[in-house]
Amino acid sequence: MTTQLHPYSKATAARPAVESAGHVIDTSNLTRHTFFRGRVAMAAILRGLGVKAGDDVLIQAFTCIAVPEAVISLGARPRYVDVEPGTPNMDPHDLAQKIRPDTKAVVIQHSFGLPADVERLAGITADAGVPMIEDCAHTIASRVGGQLVGSFGAGAFYSYEASKPVFVGIGGSAISNDVALSAALDRLYPEYAEPTQATQLQLLAMFVAHRIAYRPSTYWTVRGLFRALVRAGVIKGNYNKVEAESGPSDDFSRKMGSLQQRLLASALERVESQSNHRRWVAAQYRTEINSAGVTHLAVQPGVDPVFGRYPVLVENKAAWIEGAKDARVELADFYSTPIHPLSGEGLLKVGYEPGSCPNAEWVAGRIVSLPTGLQVDHGQVKRAADYFNR
Ligand SMILES: *Cc1c(COP(=O)(O)O)cnc(C)c1O
Repeated sequence: MTTQLHPYSKATAARPAVESAGHVIDTSNLTRHTFFRGRVAMAAILRGLGVKAGDDVLIQAFTCIAVPEAVISLGARPRYVDVEPGTPNMDPHDLAQKIRPDTKAVVIQHSFGLPADVERLAGITADAGVPMIEDCAHTIASRVGGQLVGSFGAGAFYSYEASKPVFVGIGGSAISNDVALSAALDRLYPEYAEPTQATQLQLLAMFVAHRIAYRPSTYWTVRGLFRALVRAGVIKGNYNKVEAESGPSDDFSRKMGSLQQRLLASALERVESQSNHRRWVAAQYRTEINSAGVTHLAVQPGVDPVFGRYPVLVENKAAWIEGAKDARVELADFYSTPIHPLSGEGLLKVGYEPGSCPNAEWVAGRIVSLPTGLQVDHGQVKRAADYFNR
């Protein structure tokens, strides 16, 4: 087997555009309404659409707690739509069954950067007269029919924590494709407070520490350390306690600090070149991982996924995750439940009834994902492929 070289060497990493796509992402949209976290950006969009206490918002099962948390922060109710069988994205059939005239918004998700069936989902929401929002936490650059994700609905949001394609410590952006929503975000934005200097410096420390310590081969060590620091209260974790009675976390009243904004502006300049790297890494995984026990996800014609992480389906997920620690292969388990990381009582608290979205439960039991970022070179791909193919 020949070793394939990365098509864009470090020397050309600042290349601004994706030639194949024909046009450049306008990242200025992403720096206009920035928030403390992705979930805060999502809640701001819902507020901008007029969602209030008691309203119903449809989201997909196979998501993380941040998404229902954003709905619950407004006193609204998350309702769950199942994913398409064998995929991590919303099922248009189930959406058509569950959408109602009084549904206030539908949040679709491009899980791992694999675009959802946006055209059909948008058709269903448009017919029902309900605004659609795109959760772009896992990708900035994926396209469907040449059109960027994030541009199909009324608005979209992005996240910039460590496991996301662009990392600034913690943060999120909201964008709108709709004049009324855009005006509403302009009107609401001044209500959001700047985080304290101490918080901004803490996030900067997280950013720097992660930059220094993280490589795919140190993933398990860094993750263990991160969790220990969260438990010790030194840094902020990814999961807030979500209970309607205790009220929303303070996070929901904050915008992104100016320090993180500067990191974001500079990181966004590299999105196009990093996306090319992610495309290349995903293509390598697709050809090199060829074990009969591993299923790659189908990519529909006309879809250009830029995977924030590269997902595959396996049987015996827990055993693969355990083995990856010993083999020092970065293999993530999320989402491991329909609303990660909740189980049992926790699911009921965010309004998810166990068994109600069987496809989401099936995929959560089988999906694992590999990194696609700039730290992943051909050696890392080989290591992962050897692990799966042995
Ligand atoms: C990470 C994530 C979010 C929210 O991100 P935060 O910045 O942590 O609030 C929302 N949706 C999905 C699918 C995510 O993975």
